Amino acid sequence: MSHSPHVAAGRVAGARDPHELTDWIRGFADAGTGSPLRHVRTLPAREGEQIALPDWVEPSLMAALAQRGVTRLWSHQALAAEEIRQCRNTAIATGTASGKSLGYLLPGLTSVIEGTRAPNGRGATMLYVAPTKALAADQAAHIEALQLPGVRCATYDGDTPPDERRWIRNHANVVLTNPDLVHHSLLPGHARWASFLRALRLVVIDESHAYRGVFGSNVALVLRRLRRVLARYRADPVFVFASATAGEPGTHARALAGLPVTEITQDGSPRGAVTFALWEPRPSAGEDGIPRRPAAGTEAARLLAALVAAQIQTLTFARSRAGVEAVAAAANRHLHALGSSERVAAYRGGYLPEERRALEAALRTGELRGLAATNALELGIDIQGLDAVVMAGWPGRLSSLWQQAGRAGRGGQASLAVLIGADDPLDAYLMEHPELIFEAPIEATVIHPDNPRLLARHLLAAAHELPVTVADTALFGPGMLPALAGLEAAGAVRRRPTGWFWPHDGRPEGIGSLRTAGEVLAIVEEASGRVVGTIDDASADHQVHPGAVHVHQGRSFVVTDLDRAAATATVVPGDPGWSTIAQSRSEFDLATPDAVQLAAAVTVCRGAVTVRTQVVSFTRRLPGGEVLGRHPLELPERTFTTEGLWWHLPEAVLHASGLSGPRIAGSVHAAEHAAIGMLSLFATCDRWDIGGVSSAAHPATGEPTILIYDGYPGGAGYAARGFEVLPAWLAATRELIAGCPCERGCPRCVVSPKCGNGNEPLDKEGAGIVLAVIGAALAAAT
Ligand SMILES: [Zn+2]
Ligand SMILES: [Zn+2]
Repeated sequence: MSHSPHVAAGRVAGARDPHELTDWIRGFADAGTGSPLRHVRTLPAREGEQIALPDWVEPSLMAALAQRGVTRLWSHQALAAEEIRQCRNTAIATGTASGKSLGYLLPGLTSVIEGTRAPNGRGATMLYVAPTKALAADQAAHIEALQLPGVRCATYDGDTPPDERRWIRNHANVVLTNPDLVHHSLLPGHARWASFLRALRLVVIDESHAYRGVFGSNVALVLRRLRRVLARYRADPVFVFASATAGEPGTHARALAGLPVTEITQDGSPRGAVTFALWEPRPSAGEDGIPRRPAAGTEAARLLAALVAAQIQTLTFARSRAGVEAVAAAANRHLHALGSSERVAAYRGGYLPEERRALEAALRTGELRGLAATNALELGIDIQGLDAVVMAGWPGRLSSLWQQAGRAGRGGQASLAVLIGADDPLDAYLMEHPELIFEAPIEATVIHPDNPRLLARHLLAAAHELPVTVADTALFGPGMLPALAGLEAAGAVRRRPTGWFWPHDGRPEGIGSLRTAGEVLAIVEEASGRVVGTIDDASADHQVHPGAVHVHQGRSFVVTDLDRAAATATVVPGDPGWSTIAQSRSEFDLATPDAVQLAAAVTVCRGAVTVRTQVVSFTRRLPGGEVLGRHPLELPERTFTTEGLWWHLPEAVLHASGLSGPRIAGSVHAAEHAAIGMLSLFATCDRWDIGGVSSAAHPATGEPTILIYDGYPGGAGYAARGFEVLPAWLAATRELIAGCPCERGCPRCVVSPKCGNGNEPLDKEGAGIVLAVIGAALAAAT
């Protein structure tokens, strides 16, 4: 453990010079053969803009803040506080560590304190909702530290014991929880929360950018249920959405709560200069002579070790938990080899609060100079003000990228951010297009609360909470009445003159988790019966089939049994030394499209897709990629209906462009892979959220067809977004393929890690032709 004094001094004084960091990264890059630096940009420092605290802030709160040195606000905090005080729903989207919480805590805690003068002592309450328990606990600690007279603040989560829950419902005036608890506990038991809900003045939805995809759609439906229950208690609180920098935060907040909101995006806090580097690992020849790029994690470990050895405190983000462990272990090996006494730690989710505090303290004092972690949200720890952030692979969204980069350089210090490109289409494209990182508007967050399957689940819960009436269409949208009719026909709800009721004893079953679209299976250790984790139904056949090697939180297990009826996969711990990949066959029934775009010979459709899929076998592979064998599986066919978009064109048109018949299958397949890889740039989804298939002659169209669909039952809004941005999306895909230096296709362009056909056939050049033909047709049509 190191205690070298000059580093701590450097950090405390905030004396990092942007040139020093820029010179360091350039120097390190030039040390090898061929610089991996693709782009370096210095983002200038920004001055903060300060405003006095408003005079309506309660004196006790004002005094508590003054004690901590807060006597003035950054402009965005002041603006937010004023909007909220004026009872306007507000979305605040500013950078990491910009102090968004003060913007809503000032008006929130002020009204809570004002409410303590009510006859019952609880005239005003506040509900704070964060996506994780850890974040709610952190916020509670911040509020408690203010020691405000009359403010009774409590976290309410799955671990809260029953008698404490009772106290919270009856006495707390600030409750901090997560959407899962609102869904499972607060709403179904709203009668017991009556006095808290009646007094509710402010609802804070923190880290609201986390609510995207299926999780976001579920949370949107929970918030609609909450608004319905609040109306029952004549409560009309202000809703606040606090988000990391995101595109169209107001639109997203509106979609989440179904309410009009004021948007605050101008960050008034100061920022130090940031040296931002794009880094693409250089390929080197493997044993077989074929050049390969090091994995982003391998490169990140090398960089992390070098930074730490140079006394530059660094946080590294990897995409998976297993990746985090690997990066930390490799970085420590490098440090050892460099003769450095420094060490780096891995941060996994699920640490105890005291472990997190110890880690925070070690980083603050400089005792720990390097940390590897998954995304910032899972951190649940307060890490700010480091010197450098290294991202092993594109984090999926610009908003995440800026959030991660924002972990460095608090309080006006200069900082370094390095994005290491992984070997896949999106990363490769971004390495070529720094303007998409530095000049593009940050993407909007996509949710799809109209998903009929999710809607039906929440309507069932809503009917149990309070009868659903026709007037609730205003909250749940036009899909509500058809969904209720379906539930009524199935005997799940009953219609009476006053609305649709839940007519059964107990609670509706199968409402399930907010974080997945379907059911969840438990992964159970055979010997102990201990649940080591869960997996959503849709992924189970692929990931926990008998014989699968399943890695969970860095530990390897082998699956011995998959029992759907018992919703259980049984595993034994151990790493057999190989990994497994499942192969599946899928068929797709295309419904009559909801929307069609005709562009010359090309037809583009959006509509429902029924996916019938069956996992048929798996292969075992050694870490080097060598296949040990392929093993058949007997698993049933699964069916689900989702949303997709597909485009098709006559074979003759492709012939005319020089693509012979036998090449068509490989060409549309390669185009499909690359297009899936690029969609996440336009629809804020992960590659794994989308499925695709291509065919030289799809039975439904009779023509060469590419289909891309949302990987969740009922859809998630990604394909619909793809339909809107098709020309730009396909143009980017085409450019990616044309610009890739490989000869016959590689993971940067058309080779997909999740191909059900083992990447056969693939025709990279043909894909370029297909995309050129479609692009020309789309351009001619507009
Ligand atoms: Zn390539
Ligand atoms: Zn494929």
